[in-house]
Amino acid sequence: MVRWVPKKGLQIAIDGPSGSGKGTVARLLAERLGMPVLDTGLLYRLVGWLMKREGVDLEDEQAVTNRAGELLDEIEWDAQGIRFRGELLDGCLRDEEVGRAASRVAAMEGVRKMLLGLQQQVAQQGCIMDGRDIGTVVLPHAQAKFFLTASQRERARRRWSQLQRSGEDVDLDQIHADIKMRDQRDAARKYAPLKPADDAITIDSTTMRVDQVVDRMLAIMERRGLIEKASSTTG
Ligand code: C5P
Repeated sequence: MVRWVPKKGLQIAIDGPSGSGKGTVARLLAERLGMPVLDTGLLYRLVGWLMKREGVDLEDEQAVTNRAGELLDEIEWDAQGIRFRGELLDGCLRDEEVGRAASRVAAMEGVRKMLLGLQQQVAQQGCIMDGRDIGTVVLPHAQAKFFLTASQRERARRRWSQLQRSGEDVDLDQIHADIKMRDQRDAARKYAPLKPADDAITIDSTTMRVDQVVDRMLAIMERRGLIEKASSTTG
């Protein structure tokens, strides 16, 4: 397999709607490039999860913002994942209910601004970062920006089969309706809405396999001199 060497400090921003495959693509790219990958969705999921756990009213933007501010110092986030008070959290952040809470707190300007500095600081040495506003707000100077998308039905189908595999019995139409609602909320919010940066390359993966998406991204970055081949072996 061809391995690649990225330019020092390379920042790769991958944005796109729920279920577009950003996370999978980011992980595969990270393997090929030997770079850390940072999932910004975890930050919003953690805030959503904490607010629910503490019974903070998600309608009360001020209360959510204040409480999130108080808890910020207890959050550690890097390529390994996210910790709260030293404990690595993952499974509890992945369910649909937490996803819905995340999408609500993510629409709050105060919460987003609070998390901005942390994301920029962690990205400083170079990384692959995935989210909704990485190319537009968090890393506007990233050398490579991709906007990954797919039809709503296909994204719902992917999410549905992922949940089925992990043993959750879910309804495809319900997932589709959920994705539609999150798309609307992500795209309609005033601050940092979901949209491609002017200099982002959009890839529609509806009919593409994930390895084809990754190969296309690698080819684009090679053409731009951002990465180069390290060695080539068969197998
Ligand atoms: O990507 P993931 O599904 O983990 O993100 C959870 C929620 O967090 C999304 O529905 C989206 O509303 C929000 N989010 C965001 N900006 C990011 C990452 C996630 O608004 N950079």
